[in-house]
Amino acid sequence: ALSVIGINKQFGDGKAALTVLQDINLHIKPGEFVAIVGASGCGKSTLLRLLAGLDTEFDGVLLHDGEPLRGASAQRGLVFQDHRLLPWLTVRQNIDLALLNAGLDATTRQQRIAAGVEQVGLTAFIDAWPHQLSGGMAQRAAIARALAARPQVLLLDEPLGALDALTRLKLQQELRRLWQEEGITMVMVTHDIEEALYLADRVIVLDARPGRIRKEVRVELPHPRSRNGLTFVALRD
Ligand code: ATP
Ligand code: MG
Repeated sequence: ALSVIGINKQFGDGKAALTVLQDINLHIKPGEFVAIVGASGCGKSTLLRLLAGLDTEFDGVLLHDGEPLRGASAQRGLVFQDHRLLPWLTVRQNIDLALLNAGLDATTRQQRIAAGVEQVGLTAFIDAWPHQLSGGMAQRAAIARALAARPQVLLLDEPLGALDALTRLKLQQELRRLWQEEGITMVMVTHDIEEALYLADRVIVLDARPGRIRKEVRVELPHPRSRNGLTFVALRD
């Protein structure tokens, strides 16, 4: 579980201080799919970077399974809007580097890379260079890279935002399948409310300036993960 307790985040100090997140409280259960939506600039990426452990300057408490977050960890994988594959490395090498950083031996890395590209349907492109991939394929590779480290939590920052509608729909389905099959906890930032409602158990709506939780919506599905017959229950205003 991820616990966000009374988080405040500001950039700069004194007169130039900008409060970006204010009094954020959030409890994300293992296996839950949480979407975070809100206007541009409301602090979604900032919150995700805090959860990833990439930014350690904040007030409040962040816990992963009851332990304070101490920097980045292979247990929390992060996928950005722009895939951020290293252009001078192939898909295989990009994933390998991430696994090397996670401290895995060569045999395990090889197995994980093969399994990772297979999960996202990129086996045929394992030795391709990033510039040879379409946007959707590059994003798949980035997801494979994050998944290969077998994180407990996958943090996704608008992972499908830059893709065309058809590719986005396909990848939405793939993310949902991965989530179902892996039992992984997903926290996804998106601009797309439909996408949020389609994928998530719970949608967190952030207000801007400063970013506060305005509303939480629990998405209840009569049939598991069916798009039909959605019912929404507002938990708080
Ligand atoms: P978008 O939907 O456009 O991606 P966002 O909700 O992800 O927006 P953030 O990137 O979290 O928004 O930024 C929130 C606010 O914090 C913005 O006003 C931004 O200018 C500011 N900000 C973000 N990073 C920094 C930084 N490193 N230094 C100063 N201000 C920052
Ligand atoms: Mg952002």
